[in-house]
Amino acid sequence: MNRFFLCAAVAPLLALCMLHAQAQPRHAHVHGQLKLDVAIDVRAITFHVDSPLDNIVGFERAPRTEAERKTAQQALAQLRSAGKLFTIDPAAGCALAQVDLDAPALGLGDAVPGQAQGHGDVEGNIVFECRSPVQARYIDVALFEAFPGVRQIDVQIAAPDGQFQRTLKRPSGRLTWGSK
Ligand SMILES: [Zn+2]
Repeated sequence: MNRFFLCAAVAPLLALCMLHAQAQPRHAHVHGQLKLDVAIDVRAITFHVDSPLDNIVGFERAPRTEAERKTAQQALAQLRSAGKLFTIDPAAGCALAQVDLDAPALGLGDAVPGQAQGHGDVEGNIVFECRSPVQARYIDVALFEAFPGVRQIDVQIAAPDGQFQRTLKRPSGRLTWGSK
């Protein structure tokens, strides 16, 4: 079922569909740019990463050579070791709990219809369980160091005290928000 029919079927939830439509521009596939959503909840901080594969491995299709296979494996291993990519203010008392990756071109997750036209993305859902998430005042994001293809990170933060938009540009990976 495509998104149009899904929205038609749930017309009473039109607001949700419109919300989704509005969110579309954020999913524009631009090489060098990476989208990062950060949700700060009562007991967890969750990151959602959405990036062109090109930023992460330098190509957007199944690996063809041994070198490309190795590059892909190393990149996915780095994403799975998310505790090294996201250093949360120790005041929050966080520990990495779960990493789910989706990169159809690399054989992870389901292929997305319409995405096979020469481009491919990697998405990751990364959950840290925390003693006191609201105590976090900063998060150090090491995606620039890990992936040379990432030049800009567009961040949306949903925290108990509001929503924040930030843009991180190489080389600074420190994320702050709020007025505290
Ligand atoms: Zn692309």
